[in-house]
Amino acid sequence: MSERTLAIIKPDAVRKQAIGDIISRYEKAALKPVAMKLLHMAKPVAEGFYAVHKSRPFFDSLCTFMSSGPSVVLVLQGDNAIKKNREIMGATDPAKAEQGTIRAAHGTNIEFNAVHGSDSPETATFEIGFFFPGMEIYDGR
Ligand code: ADP
Ligand code: MG
Repeated sequence: MSERTLAIIKPDAVRKQAIGDIISRYEKAALKPVAMKLLHMAKPVAEGFYAVHKSRPFFDSLCTFMSSGPSVVLVLQGDNAIKKNREIMGATDPAKAEQGTIRAAHGTNIEFNAVHGSDSPETATFEIGFFFPGMEIYDGR
């Protein structure tokens, strides 16, 4: 079933000039970008995006990181896009991520881990709507 997921190429990966490599991995996995932009999140924007984590001990540090430089935010579309993207991302902690995954290739540690991916249809709907109005999402494929 074709579905959509939200992906973020985080500030650490943008700083490492890994944008092109990561987008190439999405395309090779048949995850087609249908919306995309580069933006520098203000800290309150990061706090809104990660509101689900606000009681976690790493919340403030995570939001400081996510607002430390530009990110690339994308909507990816494809069969089982949510699960497939989580698979090619690898585990949250890059040290535990399987070889060949994006986090194994580009992650530094459990916080600076290169990419974000929605984890369920409900979070995908919230996260896509957080960054993109419907009119900015390509609807032709
Ligand atoms: P994922 O991004 O794999 O879905 P989570 O939703 O659990 O992981 O966490 C959101 C983000 O918070 C992670 O991608 C990572 O950047 C950061 N994070 C998660 N756990 C920790 C931790 N124990 N210490 C610091 N940062 C963390
Ligand atoms: Mg998550």
